[in-house]
Amino acid sequence: GTALFGARKNARGWDLTDAADLAAIEAARAPFAEALIDAAPRLAGRVAGGRQLAVLNPATGALVGHVTTAGLPDVDTALRLAEPWAAAPVERATVLNRAADRLEADFGRIFALLAREAGKTLADAVAELREAVDFLRYYALQTAQPHPARGVFACISPWNFPLAIFCGQIAAALAAGNAVLAKPAEQTPLIAALAIDHLLAAGVPPTALQLLPGDGAIGAALTRDPRVNGVAFTGSTETAQAIRRAMADHLDPTAPLIAETGGLNAMLVDSTALPEQAVRDIIASSFQSAGQRCSALRCLYVQEDIAQTVTEMLFGAMEELSLGDPWALATDIGPVIDAEAQAGIRAYVDAARAEGRVLKELQAPGQGTFVAPTVLSVRGIQDMPREIFGPVLHIATFKATEIDRVIAAINATGYGLTFGLHSRIDDRVQHIVEGIRVGNTYVNRNQIGAVVGSQPFGGEGLSGTGPKAGGPHYLARFTRAPTPDAVP
Ligand code: GLU
Repeated sequence: GTALFGARKNARGWDLTDAADLAAIEAARAPFAEALIDAAPRLAGRVAGGRQLAVLNPATGALVGHVTTAGLPDVDTALRLAEPWAAAPVERATVLNRAADRLEADFGRIFALLAREAGKTLADAVAELREAVDFLRYYALQTAQPHPARGVFACISPWNFPLAIFCGQIAAALAAGNAVLAKPAEQTPLIAALAIDHLLAAGVPPTALQLLPGDGAIGAALTRDPRVNGVAFTGSTETAQAIRRAMADHLDPTAPLIAETGGLNAMLVDSTALPEQAVRDIIASSFQSAGQRCSALRCLYVQEDIAQTVTEMLFGAMEELSLGDPWALATDIGPVIDAEAQAGIRAYVDAARAEGRVLKELQAPGQGTFVAPTVLSVRGIQDMPREIFGPVLHIATFKATEIDRVIAAINATGYGLTFGLHSRIDDRVQHIVEGIRVGNTYVNRNQIGAVVGSQPFGGEGLSGTGPKAGGPHYLARFTRAPTPDAVP
């Protein structure tokens, strides 16, 4: 027991600048370059049949495999079969750690599938697998402070982190001893099914972990069913609001909703910033993962005095970005998730173009669901109508005397997920950091890629309910932890 609950380390991961790591990855993923991969519901371990849909590679249009989706009767079956995981906390921790080891060992298949199904570059795939195993081991460790489980949890996860967030929600719910009904994003069922198979093979009882691939109707059926005792959700703010309305009709008014939602994230670069460093961090924050992170930078505020320098350097650096098939090692930016996402982002950019607000736009490949990284001018964040989930950056300028007005405008969006700041004036950094109401603030670095255990991740207001994922308070929300008042 003591060794299990001793020091925890984040996974080493893979170093893409290391020739040996890279050779190991190339060899391990090659067999999965074209192999068709299938997925189906897992109902108490049984593979259920239903409607079959093709899963296509967003970069190439090639067939990746097929998913058999769950029907509404499967939701009922899963709920009837679900049994909370009664094993002792130390046993649950052992199984979750074993699942982490299994995922890590299957890196070739996982990197291949993250590229082919989710359009992830290898760098993004490496970070994602690390985060998934870190979540599993982090929540495994927290079973050391056991509280009664709630019962049955619905875990509804997004396509942008189809492995990490999928595993994170499930690991927390399972570590707490709940039964899980997992509903992966419609776009990424194959990677979800692979993760479920590893968890089951590691020893999670099949009645404690079931998989229901499908569309929003499956999620809606789960969240309005009173047999569900809690919901973990990552996705849009609107869907989180709909889930809360559905849950309001539950028999149990204490059923928790743990939601991580959207953001309208800003970065402020003042005239004391190092332009080279700021530009590198702006590029990573707005365009890595094709801007498909809820943490991504959407609105850059540059102080007037250095605005021209920073924008010229930024546009130059953008020219070096390589868009293409994420399988290729040279690719910096892959496709957006599907044609619907592509059309929505393009329509937004077209409207901005009609207003003469396009400052910079790269060229997208002719095939696949790519969106070219684009920079738009904006007066301020108050003019941005909503989160655009893609590689579109807005730039505004400010004067030193306007800092408090900028902070107020950022806070007034109602969102509060990430904020970036580049400045070398200590007093100013402190003043701004204290004034901004967001979950995660990053100073003199990029604002994506929160690390499990050291940077708990989550927002305020329209950006989420908390507690932060990968932080010390997350797991308790999946239990009937005594409230502070109830502690003698
Ligand atoms: N945790 C991720 C990050 O810090 C973002 C999660 C999300 O996009 O949902 O980049």
